[in-house]
Amino acid sequence: MTEKHETRDACAGGSMNTSIISIRHLCKEYLNVTPLKDISVEIKKGEVISIIGPSGTGKSTLLRCINLLETPTKGEIVVDGVVTTDKKCNINLVRQKMGMVFQSFNLFAHKTIIENIMMGQVDLLGRSRQEAYDRGMELLRNIGLADKAFSYPDELSGGQKQRAAIARTVAMEPEIILFDEPTSALDPELVGEVLNTIKSLAEDGTTMILVTHEIGFAREVARRILFMDGGRIAADGTPEEIIDHPENPRLMQFLNFVNRK
Ligand code: ADP
Repeated sequence: MTEKHETRDACAGGSMNTSIISIRHLCKEYLNVTPLKDISVEIKKGEVISIIGPSGTGKSTLLRCINLLETPTKGEIVVDGVVTTDKKCNINLVRQKMGMVFQSFNLFAHKTIIENIMMGQVDLLGRSRQEAYDRGMELLRNIGLADKAFSYPDELSGGQKQRAAIARTVAMEPEIILFDEPTSALDPELVGEVLNTIKSLAEDGTTMILVTHEIGFAREVARRILFMDGGRIAADGTPEEIIDHPENPRLMQFLNFVNRK
């Protein structure tokens, strides 16, 4: 992945920190529910992290706060030296650093796969159509989907759609990719192909945060797992620590529940 130039603006934070994302005492409240209670975590450049936990514990809300799709109620988020929770922050600059892959693929149905992959590159990165096409085709070839370039999303399987959506995100060359339950809309037999696509990205050194309900997936792709419970990070460790030797009683309960399903 191409190295981006460091750009700092009025709300630039400390540059001594090696974290690409720092989250400090983050809270998010809605009228009747507080999905994030007090989240603090440091994420290093190139780390691949899975977030697991019971449903409704704020995993998605945390990703959406990192990606500025939600405004946190309290606390601070620093992305690559930029304090994104500062009102003066240049949101577009931060958005360029991050891509998000959604459960529901979010491909434009009336555009071909290659057009879907070219759009952001042309409109947001200012690439020529030829450059965007070449990059898109290269990515599609890498993930074995070149023969689907001129198909429409509806002509692809769920797994192929999700891989195309990942290629579209990667084409924007973000430093960080956030995945929100990327396999939960897929039939079980299609999960493996998406997992392989994500694993090959992990080898590229892209920083990735992946919310998933699939424990096997979480452990295969990541070297670090966060367990969220009740709006807090209740456990943070390697897959061996979190899955093989859990100490937190709520985590043990959660893993028992998931394994019984
Ligand atoms: P998870 O991803 O762990 O399943 P979420 O982050 O999606 O959990 O949701 C956490 C809680 O916040 C849930 O109770 C959910 O209903 C609530 N919530 C999420 N988004 C909103 C919103 N826009 N307005 C009100 N409540 C919300």
